[in-house]
Amino acid sequence: MDFKQIIGHEKQIEALKNSIRNKSISHCYLFEGEKGLGKKNLALAFSKTLLCKEGQAEPCNICNQCIKFDTYNHPDFKLLSPEKGIIKKEEVEKLIKSMATAPFEGKRKVFVIDDCDMMRSESHNALLKTLEEPPEYVNIILITSSSSKLLPTILSRCQIIKFYPLSIPKIIELLIKDYGVDEAKAKFIAGFTKGSVENSIELAKSKSFFDKREEVIRVIDSLIKGDKTKVFTSINFFNENKEDIDEILDIIIYWFRDLIIYKEVGTTSLLINEDKLHMLSEESFMDLNKINDIIYRVEDTKINIKRNVNFSLSIETMLLSI
Ligand SMILES: [Zn+2]
Repeated sequence: MDFKQIIGHEKQIEALKNSIRNKSISHCYLFEGEKGLGKKNLALAFSKTLLCKEGQAEPCNICNQCIKFDTYNHPDFKLLSPEKGIIKKEEVEKLIKSMATAPFEGKRKVFVIDDCDMMRSESHNALLKTLEEPPEYVNIILITSSSSKLLPTILSRCQIIKFYPLSIPKIIELLIKDYGVDEAKAKFIAGFTKGSVENSIELAKSKSFFDKREEVIRVIDSLIKGDKTKVFTSINFFNENKEDIDEILDIIIYWFRDLIIYKEVGTTSLLINEDKLHMLSEESFMDLNKINDIIYRVEDTKINIKRNVNFSLSIETMLLSI
């Protein structure tokens, strides 16, 4: 892991590098921003840089510290992540205890807590105590997508670095250049993930995502054109893809959102499904109120499924509304 492998976030990277150059490294950083922006990778790259023997603003990648870091073998580095949505109290205690002893190898010990808002409240308090008087050699990087769940007293002791989604053109460029995705698909992915680099890359690599999208669009198209038997013949598809239902329902929402844009503006770069223009045009006879109503129903279906309402019944009711 290296700064060079991080996509975007140039300003944030520069700020971190400057803190090394100016010898103004904080004891605690809070990386804040939506999921999937690459905060954890940047935390790893920064940790490695802090531990590198050379002490420069970039890791040298060849010293034994860098090699130990890359092989997950560095005794002065620890990454804590939640398991099943929770960071165990004991794990945080262990981490804090390890902060009390001097580094084994170099001058620093670096600790990263991913999704730190998933700590229990007693852990927040324990961590706060450490942050009030951190040992000289300790650097902590906290990562969160919702800083509102952290104690204000913790926030006030951290240097906060905010992360923002990448611009859509930047993601499109990345997917085409580095992942060999064609332009139409890249455009769809970038719009669909709203600028999340990690999710975009995941979709670009996924073999099944575009097959699912094709099937969903086929189902919607048949329903719009009056073939109501599709409600029942397609239910297997939805059942088989229960695990990805959020993604599938988003595909439906984006489809109807595009239909509204197409009706109001016509062909425009705002369309996410620009590669399916002919279908959008054929379906544009639909009434705007009806389209809005469908979008609400799909949103409701999302909520109902999360609340464990009967899955097949929810999907059927939703499809019948189209
Ligand atoms: Zn090094």
